[in-house]
Amino acid sequence: MVVLALMAMSACRDVNKKAIISETAGTNMQTPMESTLQQTNFDTIIDGRAVKLYWLENKNLKMAITNYGGRIVALLTPDQDGNYVDVSIGYSNIKDYLDSAETYFGATIGRVGNRIAKGKFSLDGTEYSVVPNNNENALHGGENGFQDKVWGAEQPDTKTLILRYTSPDMEEGFPGNLTVKVTYSLTDNRAVRMEYEATTDKATVVNLTNHTYFNLNGEGSGSILNHSLQLYADQFIPVDQGLIPTGELKNVKGTPFDFKDFNTIGSRIDEEDRQLAFGGGYDHNFVLNGTKSNGMNHAATVVGDKSGIVMDVYTLEPGIQFYCGNFMDSENTLKSGAKDDYRTAFCLETQHFPDSPNQQGFPSITLRPGEVYHTVSEYKFSFR
Ligand code: BGC
Repeated sequence: MVVLALMAMSACRDVNKKAIISETAGTNMQTPMESTLQQTNFDTIIDGRAVKLYWLENKNLKMAITNYGGRIVALLTPDQDGNYVDVSIGYSNIKDYLDSAETYFGATIGRVGNRIAKGKFSLDGTEYSVVPNNNENALHGGENGFQDKVWGAEQPDTKTLILRYTSPDMEEGFPGNLTVKVTYSLTDNRAVRMEYEATTDKATVVNLTNHTYFNLNGEGSGSILNHSLQLYADQFIPVDQGLIPTGELKNVKGTPFDFKDFNTIGSRIDEEDRQLAFGGGYDHNFVLNGTKSNGMNHAATVVGDKSGIVMDVYTLEPGIQFYCGNFMDSENTLKSGAKDDYRTAFCLETQHFPDSPNQQGFPSITLRPGEVYHTVSEYKFSFR
């Protein structure tokens, strides 16, 4: 049970003095979004642990993260005119995150991102059952995934935040005590870098990702259907009605899933297509070609039609889930004051393929004692 108690700001300062760095970061030239995000609206205690808002900043980017769920709350990048635009969807206070009809805004996702069919899988001959939270399936680690956990936070410098969480044995039904470290940093080449590490004391399954909802024209600036998208993927993963993979890797050629060249997100979204019908639009995993850039797979390039802001996604992961906000339905009020209207944001979640523990043909997500789970993804910004 989440226990929430608002604390006085001064008391919280004692809890984590490093946060003082974050309060001063960016105060010289505050953007409207920075002023909206009051530190005090994030200072709280959840499950007996201190929650705060941390600001990261370098010469190109500013990012606010809360250790409640390891969430990106705001991500500010300059447009062509040098004006900072907040391209990530989030709330202005912690209470809205707790009350939200959408659980995953900006969050670190685990222990297993995406779906596990019926929440069941077997490992080394033992059957495990994860709490189903998406009809009969388990989504993003079950009912109370990593997005609901308070992570330990350490800010070694103004552009880095290290988050730590130990997921206990059998939490949400997953075996093994899993020790997780996520390092968020802002790089000199204008990227948000997310480095994930994990170890376990029993064989388990792990598939970590970040679930930021983006609108490259700025949060609250309407539909993302005119954003242009390129995915470096010749294949995607068809699913059934419950969005569980059929096991096939299908060539995108001749389908609305062909984003090998730039196309707007919306140009084919209403075509009659079984896969689009199952997802209510795009809500599918793409199999990355492995086109190397920055030592990682170049996964995607997206361009905001109004802002000219470009986001490139790089990852060590084999796949990327492209979800275009088909389930957004104006139930929540965002930090900009706008509602989270239908398809006003998209997610590009780098990851292993959905339902991997039950799919023989997919790369394994098993982690064993003595092994180190390590993966890196980047969201890199520029403009055209
Ligand atoms: C899933 C969607 C789901 C969304 C929730 C995505 O990763 O694929 O089906 O509705 O997360 O935020």
